[in-house]
Amino acid sequence: MTQVFDRPIRGREFFEEVIRDNLDQGRPDRVQPLFEWKVTKRTPGRFQTRVIQNGVHPSLHITYKKSDVKLELNTEATLATIEKFKPNAVVVATGAQRWIPDIPGMEAPHVLHAEDVISGAKTTGERVVIVGGNQIGCETAWLLGEQKKKVTIIGKYAAIGMDINPATMSYLSMKLREFGVNIVTESYPKTVSKDGITIFNKDWKEQKIEADTIVIATGYRSNFEFAESIKKIVSKVFTVGDCLEPASILEAVHRGSKLGRLIEELA
Ligand SMILES: Cc1cc2nc3c(=O)[nH]c(=O)nc-3n(C[C@H](O)[C@H](O)[C@H](O)COP(=O)(O)OP(=O)(O)OC[C@H]3O[C@@H](n4cnc5c(N)ncnc54)[C@H](O)[C@@H]3O)c2cc1C
Repeated sequence: MTQVFDRPIRGREFFEEVIRDNLDQGRPDRVQPLFEWKVTKRTPGRFQTRVIQNGVHPSLHITYKKSDVKLELNTEATLATIEKFKPNAVVVATGAQRWIPDIPGMEAPHVLHAEDVISGAKTTGERVVIVGGNQIGCETAWLLGEQKKKVTIIGKYAAIGMDINPATMSYLSMKLREFGVNIVTESYPKTVSKDGITIFNKDWKEQKIEADTIVIATGYRSNFEFAESIKKIVSKVFTVGDCLEPASILEAVHRGSKLGRLIEELA
């Protein structure tokens, strides 16, 4: 089902209603922390439901406080740290690798990655070209538009936001229009220079776009190197989540849950 709202306030009302309707999710008989894993009244633990409202974003937090999983926080997994546990199996969920096009000028200091811009770790100049018109490129454009930056998105497809659901995209498009974001489709980056980027445009002609900062949002790729190296010390090594195939939070959690149960069956 796709819900389309004529005004942002209607969207907020909808989500608040969903939250109200789900306030009983914290009851033990309703909680399902992992897919297909039912919690019953006899399951030990504490259950709690809270509605948290940060600014205008209400969210529902469901806590299930009981786990046999031992956490080793602030620890980098290396062959040495893994070996210490003498594991029967290792699940590698170390996330995806950034994919960056190999074009001249990419290593310049005014070329930033979208993740660093979104997280606030890096700051852009006033004129920004974003290379990549999918979800992360569009969200970065929205953020920079709000900061009153002059933004251009370069996308390789005929439209941007092809990986975003249509209802969200229609709102996002409205925002990008509101911020005057320039959208250049069916284009590919050729070279980055000190004062901008040269692209091949949709007529396959070279076109220069001036910019102070180039932001890379060209996607991610799977990452098997670490998992392969672990096979030297443990025979059962599994990869899951974005390191197997970049996707979404839901996919990563779902596949992780399935894999957990598969390993239990194998043990
Ligand atoms: C900017 C951005 C926006 C996104 N927005 C959305 C969204 O709105 N909705 C959505 O569903 N998905 C979104 N995604 C995708 C989503 O974040 C991923 O699909 C999901 O986080 C994958 O989960 P994961 O556990 O496989 O990997 P990650 O979440 O990447 O987690 C991997 C973890 O492993 C740690 N790690 C790596 N190597 C080691 C090591 N050697 N030792 C110990 N720890 C290590 C990393 O520090 C990291 O904490 C977004 C992604 C990005 C980059």
